[in-house]
Amino acid sequence: MSDTSPQAAAQQATPASGGADVLRVEGLKKHFPVHRGVLQTVAGHVKAVDGISFSIRAGETLCLVGESGCGKSTVGKTVLRLQEPTAGRIWLGDTEVTQLDDEGMREHRREVQMVFQDPYSSLNPRMRVGQIIAEPLENYGLAKRGREGEQQIASLLEKVGLRADAMARYPFEFSGGQRQRLGIARALALNPRLIVADEPVSALDVSVQAQVLNLMMDLQDEFRLAYLFVSHDLAVVEHIGHRIAVMYLGRIVELSTRDRIFGQPQHPYTEALMAAAPIADPKAKRERLVIEGDVPSPMNPPPGCHFHTRCPYAIPRCKVDDPPLQEIAPGHVVACHLRTPETLAAEAAP
Ligand code: SF4
Repeated sequence: MSDTSPQAAAQQATPASGGADVLRVEGLKKHFPVHRGVLQTVAGHVKAVDGISFSIRAGETLCLVGESGCGKSTVGKTVLRLQEPTAGRIWLGDTEVTQLDDEGMREHRREVQMVFQDPYSSLNPRMRVGQIIAEPLENYGLAKRGREGEQQIASLLEKVGLRADAMARYPFEFSGGQRQRLGIARALALNPRLIVADEPVSALDVSVQAQVLNLMMDLQDEFRLAYLFVSHDLAVVEHIGHRIAVMYLGRIVELSTRDRIFGQPQHPYTEALMAAAPIADPKAKRERLVIEGDVPSPMNPPPGCHFHTRCPYAIPRCKVDDPPLQEIAPGHVVACHLRTPETLAAEAAP
């Protein structure tokens, strides 16, 4: 019997072709307690991530998008176990990350690397570039000595488009784009399988963003890297994403390929995000679906569909029934009462 749970629906939202799953996340939750009063009693929980499931294959980029506070960055940190999940399971290949002890986590941290938003704060300003890139290699006993060591660092610098003489310089001597290249070289040093990139180009000029994204795409092709790419910027996501998961209040509300998310968004929230994004082709027309109001508190999300307080299409049922994620087309899942396999079939009927 087929599994029709939301987790299964999201797991099915994978491309028909491609490599094996590098990362698999099932029912992931991260709730933060909120303390109040002199006694600091727990007054509630912020449900930053509230039961999400997805997978990423070798050579694939899955983007998480959504407004600030939707939980997308928390997902990245939890996958890295920089924050412990409240519930759910995470696999890297066949290894269940959520069960790993300290020794297992050491290996996990080798296989999963992070590229940060602000490359400058992630590079020690007092260390030369050669030392910065050698540091993770030394931590894992993989650094070579002498001339061979220099060649090891030079080769990593070359992979990110920098010259070998960069290793003698300090981070402040580089531009923002070059510093992000250094951050990527450091992440690559340990041959990771997965890179979690949290807003990696948002601090860069638009003209430099494309260069860094193209570099990441070239490296992905060369090393079959999987990327979990967190961004609020739809132009960036359109450039690099193979599949896109749209998050709202800690949940995935739609997940599909880049072409379907941009070409045929189904969830009203995705539709509104797309409508608000700048259009590259000035002749292209896009319906303007405008949503109003602020994102409700993740400590006290609205009942029913969490989006009903802002959704222009909301019907009475939306206030009480929480719509499950359902697969409406191969690899395309949506959580909306008006976008189910049945409603879409009825619309398509003559
Ligand atoms: Fe809007 Fe209702 Fe769909 Fe939620 S379930 S997105 S409120 S129409």
